[in-house]
Amino acid sequence: MSTAIPSLRRSRDVALLVAKAREGDPRAVARLITLVEENDDSLPEVAAALAPYAGQAQIIGLTGSPGVGKSTTTNELVRALRSAGRRVGVLAVDPSSPFTGGAILGDRVRMQDHATDSGVYIRSMSSRGHLGGLAAATPQAVRVLEGAGCEVVLVETVGVGQAEVEIASLADTTLVLLAPGMGDAIQAVKAGILEVADIFVVNKADRDGADATYHDIQGMIGLGDRDPAQWRPLVLRAVAVKGEGIESVLAAIDKHRKWLIDSDGLLVRRQARAAAEIEAIAFASIRDQIGSLRSGTGLAELAERVAAGETDPYAAAETLLRALGRLTPTF
Ligand code: GDP
Repeated sequence: MSTAIPSLRRSRDVALLVAKAREGDPRAVARLITLVEENDDSLPEVAAALAPYAGQAQIIGLTGSPGVGKSTTTNELVRALRSAGRRVGVLAVDPSSPFTGGAILGDRVRMQDHATDSGVYIRSMSSRGHLGGLAAATPQAVRVLEGAGCEVVLVETVGVGQAEVEIASLADTTLVLLAPGMGDAIQAVKAGILEVADIFVVNKADRDGADATYHDIQGMIGLGDRDPAQWRPLVLRAVAVKGEGIESVLAAIDKHRKWLIDSDGLLVRRQARAAAEIEAIAFASIRDQIGSLRSGTGLAELAERVAAGETDPYAAAETLLRALGRLTPTF
């Protein structure tokens, strides 16, 4: 008879999973990230168990349009970090898709170079049913990787929209990848990327137009009013597919990290990240309950009364806020 020890892959034994993840067991790490991704009921317990390990890893965000070379660059960064002996975690986040289908294929491609390396953990993640969305899920997943002893966590997001920018900017250092001829420089400005990018990497520098993209982005950085005490984004060229420029990217990341530490910016960023996380969790719980409040205080009923002229929106909002004050969390 087989013993009835539940497989780690399905376990909800948070203490066991965290203990195994601490030992670097990849199945425990995978399971914990799945619990995060699926917004499992055990999540508050997972978060509490991981809290002591928060803040131990260097978090690097990487974003850019599809095809710009994110996977290739990530792969090369992992290679370089591994040869420097650092334990690395990679989270590939897809904010637009509720499914991991595409990303799983991406993992297979990514994994090939690092599949047998126990010092690398690579995982793709979608929002699936997460209550607070990826803004809440991503930092939790990062904590899982920190708990598992990753010294560097790369958070790669697909696309250059606002959601991707927000996720990437949860990092200590945010890299934005551009490629020649993709109109990325203009798009970057539209999506508010200039404000969050610490380092721009003009990838595919072996292609025509790379210089134009490089100068476009330098020009745009030069245009904005910038407090001299602020970080001025670095712009680099790379040919990720040949591994060229990767050492400069790592040097730029180190330079930014040093600046962050010297200027107390690291703490500021981490507190901002925690604030975003708390807000996402709390707001999601409020949103979850706002429609089903006690009779007379629910959003739909209040809206009906405001629309009918029976009450005004301020009075209705006050009723709603008072009712919210009596709520208990839904997580
Ligand atoms: P992602 O969608 O941003 O993750 O982009 P990928 O890393 O999958 O790269 C998209 C395509 O561009 C692949 O065919 C890569 O081989 C290719 N690619 C990546 N970096 C370079 C580069 O520096 N130069 C050239 N010419 N192609 C590259």
